[in-house]
Amino acid sequence: MINKVCKRYVLLAIIPLLLLSVLVGCSSASQTEASQETDQRPILIEGPMPIEAENFAQKLKNVKEEKSGTFVFYKGTVDNYPVIVVKTGKGMENTAAATAIAIEKYNPIAIINQGTSGGHDPDLNVFDIVLGKRTTNIGSMKTADKAKNEGMDPTVWKPMDLMASEGSAGEDPDAEKIRYYEGDKDLLAAANAVKDKYTKGKIVEGTIGSADVWNNEIDRINWFHKKYGTSVEEMETASAAQIAKAYDTPFLGIRILSNNKVNGGKYNPNTAAANQEYVYEVVKEYISTMPSE
Ligand code: SAH
Repeated sequence: MINKVCKRYVLLAIIPLLLLSVLVGCSSASQTEASQETDQRPILIEGPMPIEAENFAQKLKNVKEEKSGTFVFYKGTVDNYPVIVVKTGKGMENTAAATAIAIEKYNPIAIINQGTSGGHDPDLNVFDIVLGKRTTNIGSMKTADKAKNEGMDPTVWKPMDLMASEGSAGEDPDAEKIRYYEGDKDLLAAANAVKDKYTKGKIVEGTIGSADVWNNEIDRINWFHKKYGTSVEEMETASAAQIAKAYDTPFLGIRILSNNKVNGGKYNPNTAAANQEYVYEVVKEYISTMPSE
């Protein structure tokens, strides 16, 4: 008897709860659908130094600034489409972290890492721009096996691909190769489509090499140019490309030459602004070719 009464009460209590959960389920599903309809995924533009990011940030409309650690995100719009500029700080670590944070927080549809660089190709001059058809890490290396007093010889160092396997890269001969990250073809197409709008130099497709190193030895620069096919070097793009790849986010590096040791091109900081003017045109072109919902 007591048992029967209990069961009835339990049932009476459960039915409204079930109804409520169905109702809540319905309304939260329709809310996510609605926000997916209106929320466009932003394009992310990265620049390391203030002179490499702030010029673009000033072009954004309706800007809101957000900070995460030392990284500054300028959230705004270009042609009514959401674009976020991030000032990452210099170097591979800052750039990788800022890229991962941006992907997790803002879910960008595409990423462009842009800024200055040093020439490895003697045919490229200060103010020329390289579109990163390929990007590679030129700081990830394995040295030769030498005993005490046998010295050191960077010309025989081998490239080391940290993404080759989850095992030890030091022991794995399969890791002794150059890892290239491919530039996204739609971003490359947008960049090529607006080439003529840039008049301060030429624009070529090439290979961007990155490391936390500033190479000033011409023999070493030539070694990279020959072995890795590098057009330019700088300190960020490959790290952003690696993280973009980890999340399968379309990526392109766009780097202007601010200096070129191999042909005597002197450092000119005004190149940073010129590159942002061009990247702004690339972003507008990319937005104009996106399928409208
Ligand atoms: N020239 C500046 C320092 C720039 S530090 C000064 O002396 O104060 C390096 C920054 O410039 C990095 O963000 C890097 O991406 C870029 N860069 C430009 N030319 C470079 C080169 N030849 N080698 C390495 N990085 C270069």
